[in-house]
Amino acid sequence: MTKLHVRKGDKVLVIAGKDKGKEGVVLKALPQKERVVVEGCGVVKKALRPTQQNPQGGIIHKEAPIHVSNVQIVCPKCGKATRVTNKRNDEGKRVRVCKKCGADID
Ligand SMILES: [Zn+2]
Repeated sequence: MTKLHVRKGDKVLVIAGKDKGKEGVVLKALPQKERVVVEGCGVVKKALRPTQQNPQGGIIHKEAPIHVSNVQIVCPKCGKATRVTNKRNDEGKRVRVCKKCGADID
């Protein structure tokens, strides 16, 4: 299974595309597609057909998944967008480490 460098709940910075420079929280990770849904990023308008619950129909704004290579994780410790490396901690668990300040991200 493919592992992404970001996961649900991470704060990320968008580094490419129309939302470049925006920060948001990962709402959903889609490892099979190598995409993530980021709060407030990749927003598309969707027209809704009128339904019984919503007789008017209308337009909603929805976050579309963006490619994971377009985001960088924001380190909770130093607050900078960074690359991460993986290491094993004392218990042998895999943790992600900020390349800028060396802090554990998990
Ligand atoms: Zn850091």
